[in-house]
Amino acid sequence: MKPTISRGLSVIAAALLLLNLVGQAQSSRPNFDRPRTYDVQNYIIRVSFDASAKKVLGDTTVQFKPLAAGFRELTLDAVGMEFDSVKLDPAGTDLKYRNTGDKIVVALDKAYSPDDVISVRFKYTSTQPRKGVYFVDELKADNVNFDAQIWSQGEAEENRYWFPSFDFPSDKATSEEFITVPKGETVIGNGERLPDVENTDGTYTAHYKMSIPYSTYLTSFVIGKYVRVDDKYGDIPLGFYVYPGREAIAPLAFSNTKKMMQAYEELTGVKFPYNKYDQTIVRNFQFGGMENITATTHADTEVFMVSGGLGPFGTAAVEDLVSHELSHSWFGDLVTCKNWSELWLNEGFATFMEAAWREKAYGRDSYIRKLQSDAAQAIADDSINKRRHALFNVIAKPDDSLFDTTTYQKGGTVVHMLREQVGNENFWKAINAYLNAHKFDNVTSVDLEKAMEAASGQDLKWFFEQWVYGAGLPELNVTQAYLPASKTLRLTFTQTQKLDKITPAVFRLPLDVEIATGNKKHVQKIDLTKRIQIVNLKVDGRPTGLKLDPEEKIILKTVKIAPLSK
Ligand SMILES: [Zn+2]
Repeated sequence: MKPTISRGLSVIAAALLLLNLVGQAQSSRPNFDRPRTYDVQNYIIRVSFDASAKKVLGDTTVQFKPLAAGFRELTLDAVGMEFDSVKLDPAGTDLKYRNTGDKIVVALDKAYSPDDVISVRFKYTSTQPRKGVYFVDELKADNVNFDAQIWSQGEAEENRYWFPSFDFPSDKATSEEFITVPKGETVIGNGERLPDVENTDGTYTAHYKMSIPYSTYLTSFVIGKYVRVDDKYGDIPLGFYVYPGREAIAPLAFSNTKKMMQAYEELTGVKFPYNKYDQTIVRNFQFGGMENITATTHADTEVFMVSGGLGPFGTAAVEDLVSHELSHSWFGDLVTCKNWSELWLNEGFATFMEAAWREKAYGRDSYIRKLQSDAAQAIADDSINKRRHALFNVIAKPDDSLFDTTTYQKGGTVVHMLREQVGNENFWKAINAYLNAHKFDNVTSVDLEKAMEAASGQDLKWFFEQWVYGAGLPELNVTQAYLPASKTLRLTFTQTQKLDKITPAVFRLPLDVEIATGNKKHVQKIDLTKRIQIVNLKVDGRPTGLKLDPEEKIILKTVKIAPLSK
């Protein structure tokens, strides 16, 4: 997901109780996984709509395996649904159930074991769902003409508003969607499109099949009036679904998609994992874009920025959006955060991959400029945010507060700093191993740390402690003195970041220091490990300039350098 450009920071009162949980040893780090007693194998989701009543008519089969013997009761997330029937499939046996309003609890006909695959079929309606499915009315005025749309939005925990599910990222299942709409409407869904079924009542049923397991929040559909503009990357069909009459936007916004796919394949060493990739624009989308599996949804207002008179700013913003959502096919969809506290592994990486695409396409300067902008946002946010947290987010709640500047912009800069710490080659070697080891599965920060340590041979505990499990960033004050007798530049570094329970009092900072003397420049390496640290550097004359970290290897920091005293 990517928030809209215009979206401001959401500032909510700090959850002080939870803040106390950090700063503890790794072994006692809180576990935010959701307990499971079963493993969903497949969802068969059949939906049609009463658009005027804003009603979802659902018929979903959930196929699952118990994780232990003696399994008698199935509990699924299901919010605001009215159930017409709950039956064992294919036997058709009616099952007793209890609807709590946000869960459905089904009593099975007998005890089952992990050897069984059980199918339960639910028929239900969801009337004017508060979340999950959005009915967008048509808009017709003098100069505008927008058709009605119906689309879904699953992240974080909204798909439970339109199909019964284990709605948490740690459960991956395959899916089939059968979506019935009036003829003339286009349906975009997840995975391979199979032949439509023509119905006799003026409707047809679109059929999509996703054969690779994925997390529930990535299930989606879009229904509306669309023109499909086609492209291809190798054997992978690319579809751009845009409004009739607005086809010209497709090449402007999306023509780089195949080059981005190639770039990401080259960087990660992992082929695009799925057999199609669609991008669809919708109206009134609450975010900039969402990486629904094989079927990204974009806000039309964001995509139209490419031709909105904003010039290069608009072009770059749309390119970042497209590259961000595409990169989730690797980071987020292929390997998925195990719980919401680990969301930075989706979003920090997707934010970093925006920069990585820029580096591939336009060079190092463009990459660094993007990261500098992300760092500036993270620094500004850190100074005003009342709800500060580490990348490993112990105050994560499954709502829109997840999608914040720490998780995205700070996350992206930390991935960059990790790359600089282990070196470019080791970094991408580790990424390849991490993706392959956990593909079609879930990941934690510990998995990333292990992959980086294995590829680099470095112990990275300190790096993860300060940048992933600690909040904030280093704020450096530097004073300098030149000692002519010994030709020494004496630098005094003070880390001034405020002391609190979640921010490291001392960041370890392996820094390059560039010193100019006359018309020569020398780079020396130092390792800051103390809150106040004096460093003496040999120089060949009185320095005329000083630069810390000239290559922006530690991009997330503030630095104040006092001029050399006379
Ligand atoms: Zn994202």
